[in-house]
Amino acid sequence: MIENLEVDELVIGAGLCGLMYGLSAVSEGSSVAISEAHHKVGGYATNFYRNKRKFVFDCSQHKVSGLKENVGNLWISLKRLGLQSLLDEFELHEEIGTVVYKNQFIKLPSEPEDIKETLINYFPDEIIGIEKLFHDIESHGYQHYMFFRKLMNEYTINRDILKESRSLSKITAREYFNTLFKGQDIIEVLSPIAIYSGSISNEVNAFYFLHCLYAMFYGGPAFMKGTGQRISDLLLKEFVDRGGILLKKNKVYEMEDIGDHMLVTTRKNIVKTKRVIATCPPEDVVKMLKSDEKSQKFKQVLNNFTVGWGHFCVFVVLSVPPEELGITSPEYLLVSDTGDNFTEDDFEKDRYYDLFTLSVSNYHRVDPEGGYILQFIILDHGDRWFSLSEDQYNQRKEKIQGKLIKRVLNTFPQIEDKLVYTESSTPKTNYKFTLATKGSAFAYKMLPKTNLGLLSNFPNDKVKLVSTWSGGPGYETAMCFGFTQGKLLNMKKTQNT
Ligand SMILES: Cc1cc2nc3c(=O)[nH]c(=O)nc-3n(C[C@H](O)[C@H](O)[C@H](O)COP(=O)(O)OP(=O)(O)OC[C@H]3O[C@@H](n4cnc5c(N)ncnc54)[C@H](O)[C@@H]3O)c2cc1C
Repeated sequence: MIENLEVDELVIGAGLCGLMYGLSAVSEGSSVAISEAHHKVGGYATNFYRNKRKFVFDCSQHKVSGLKENVGNLWISLKRLGLQSLLDEFELHEEIGTVVYKNQFIKLPSEPEDIKETLINYFPDEIIGIEKLFHDIESHGYQHYMFFRKLMNEYTINRDILKESRSLSKITAREYFNTLFKGQDIIEVLSPIAIYSGSISNEVNAFYFLHCLYAMFYGGPAFMKGTGQRISDLLLKEFVDRGGILLKKNKVYEMEDIGDHMLVTTRKNIVKTKRVIATCPPEDVVKMLKSDEKSQKFKQVLNNFTVGWGHFCVFVVLSVPPEELGITSPEYLLVSDTGDNFTEDDFEKDRYYDLFTLSVSNYHRVDPEGGYILQFIILDHGDRWFSLSEDQYNQRKEKIQGKLIKRVLNTFPQIEDKLVYTESSTPKTNYKFTLATKGSAFAYKMLPKTNLGLLSNFPNDKVKLVSTWSGGPGYETAMCFGFTQGKLLNMKKTQNT
């Protein structure tokens, strides 16, 4: 039975962005409902169980940046929402991870000075480039990272470096590295870090990449025990405790502008609302407004963007704790001898899976209670999976799973007879659980000249795109963008009335 509901704001999607928006808006006194298609909240920040709940698999949490006290944007946002108890549950990572390249295991610590020292130790001839890199992270990376605080009028753009920042946004991270370094080896060690933002160094723009490095090196990389689902569940609890309404298993289908309100049709409700906050993909928002001509023109704006990478993941359970097998780092980035410079042909012929950086995440180290879990993750694209028949899909999945396991065994042969359970997911799985376009796990690609600002003016002013699609990917961005927009839009409302 369809139920009617009336609220100030309806948020589409209870991922991290939607939950933080809801929490922020409800804390400003608005009545807010979040409509979520899935049966649980979190979007990518969820988990799932196998073997009668003995194995717990995290769907995405590796590093949550921005949690350094009084420094990280996320720490500041959560503090302002009065979520001290949630902040207390994060633990800072002691190391970023270990890059495995040409038989060397290069462990990257988590403090910027220590990371710099490590790089200088391994690449003494590149000291000038390394110094310049850290200078650029502290200036341009910081400038980009302070975007949210600028929105809140808490940061003034440093105009002295603006021209150079703009130039960096027009080149790729790899082109930028080539201007800094004499050799390729240091580039192949730094490039795989782009995987944390779902990017590839020869695609992502250098200005944005410097932001990611700032967030990770200076902002405080942390994790929460109990998987990303725990963060989502705690945010939900606060949202509901403060009067928010969650509508689960409730996909939003359609929206209609009825003058001073929007009428939104969901699986279970007709919701009358003053404003819709869309955290789902922008192209779905345009489809939902199919009878609104102005909104249809927005398709042209969306043509400026390229849907980002999804991923292929092999979820693995070992028979013994990984540390007994010498797997002690929270994460290994396995880089092939040729680095991440794969060609279109490599991608078409599936050689890509042998070449591109493969991450081996040691979830047991992060959350021992979840079981002896490892996850092998590579960026992948929905285009390769969506058009297949069920048989073709299953065969391909098995083939790629085999390739990735083989690669991991080359580095860690000791785990071969210790694999007790394996299962894989693809970009199609991503789509099934998050409805992200093409199963993208990282929204739009941050290519040179990508300007997400174009997404801030949706033609219908009762609809706002507040999402990683319009703010950039990642836990920290999703949460800070949700928080900031919830605050700004509702403060404006208070000022207007
Ligand atoms: C393997 C992997 C590892 C990652 N690692 C990290 C990491 O270590 N650090 C980091 O910062 N980031 C990481 N990320 C990225 C991060 O998980 C995402 O950027 C972030 O969680 C996105 O949050 P979101 O709220 O914007 O979107 P989503 O999580 O996609 O949430 C959107 C929600 O909207 C719902 N929805 C969509 N359409 C509708 C509709 N029509 N009606 C109702 N509901 C709808 C979906 O069901 C979903 O719950 C990783 C991602 C992956 C896949």
